[in-house]
Amino acid sequence: MRLADKIWAHGRLVDWDQAKVHIMTYTIHYGLGVFEGIRCYKTKGGKPAIFRCKEHVDRLFNSAKIVQMDIPFSKEEIRKAMKETIKVNGFDECYIRPVVIVGEGPLGLYAEEYPVKVYIVVWRWGEYLGEGALQRGVRVKISSFTRHHVNVGMTKGKIAGNYVNSILAKKEAVMCGFDEAIMLDTEGYVSEGSGENIFIVKDGVIKTTPLTSILPGITRDSVIRIAKDLGYEVVEQKFTRDELYLADEAFFCGTAAEVTPIREVDGRFIGDPGPVTRAIQEVFFRVVRGEEEKYQEWLDYVD
Ligand code: PMP
Repeated sequence: MRLADKIWAHGRLVDWDQAKVHIMTYTIHYGLGVFEGIRCYKTKGGKPAIFRCKEHVDRLFNSAKIVQMDIPFSKEEIRKAMKETIKVNGFDECYIRPVVIVGEGPLGLYAEEYPVKVYIVVWRWGEYLGEGALQRGVRVKISSFTRHHVNVGMTKGKIAGNYVNSILAKKEAVMCGFDEAIMLDTEGYVSEGSGENIFIVKDGVIKTTPLTSILPGITRDSVIRIAKDLGYEVVEQKFTRDELYLADEAFFCGTAAEVTPIREVDGRFIGDPGPVTRAIQEVFFRVVRGEEEKYQEWLDYVD
């Protein structure tokens, strides 16, 4: 597999095949590492732009702070490195994956002395939840796996090991014939998808989970702003699975999933993507492609 020519490996660009780590790498054993998922879109003038680059880099550093990893680069260096990696690979659209790992050591859990290394990988990535998902919507299942307790998983961080929980939920959902899983929090309220935040619409009001037990999604933040600018009322409030079953519309959002309609939950039909979902989706895709003047501050152009 070779998805790009070059990878940024801790300060220098190396060939795709050279970006290797040793089996004694601490992160491989214990899952302590942090990462980001970012998209770069081709904008209307032809130039690529990283969507909400600053917020993603801030979240990367926040994730690292939570797990007490010192990233040995500045935010500006990481931002520049992402642009350099996109340019050298010649992409006009791509997904960007910065990953910060704890390197080699004798593998005791207490790893203060181990080196922290940063890599940036870019590749093309289409519709995350399957071809046609953005148009048709996805079928989802409430997972039998609960989302992290807030004092177990540190949900505000995009922490590698946290994703075992997501993977269990995703696998279960796919094995049962669904496209994606929705997890409930430890109190039983809807929390988020395996890699997406969730919104519902009822009687014209848009509701999304409060930040308590979820990853603070940057797409979620963008959707809230877009929806409010479109004149919708948006509330951040806990809701139950039966409220989701009875929603007029529901959709996921995330960097990979973008704005994906939910057409069915646990066999209950929610809708052929409804008008509110469609309206938000449409503006979202115009925004990321630089077609909306109002949201230009969210685009970091790659020159
Ligand atoms: N929740 C989880 C668990 C995720 O992995 C993601 C994807 N990063 C999201 C929500 C959405 O976050 P964002 O919009 O910042 O990609």
